[in-house]
Amino acid sequence: MAKSCPICAKAVVAAHRPFCSQRCANVDLSRWLGGNYRIPTDEAPTVHEGGLGEQEQEQEQG
Ligand SMILES: [Zn+2]
Repeated sequence: MAKSCPICAKAVVAAHRPFCSQRCANVDLSRWLGGNYRIPTDEAPTVHEGGLGEQEQEQEQG
């Protein structure tokens, strides 16, 4: 099954997978760096205490 270049939709060349050429690879890379270079830290991570790290109490022996 032949895949197509995600940039220009041409036939993918094995040497430049998953693109058709080094040029398209660079285009994709620049898109990546331009669009998702900085990660928005708007929403704070929600941490729920309890539930996950559930520890059982040690039973006394003897
Ligand atoms: Zn291409």
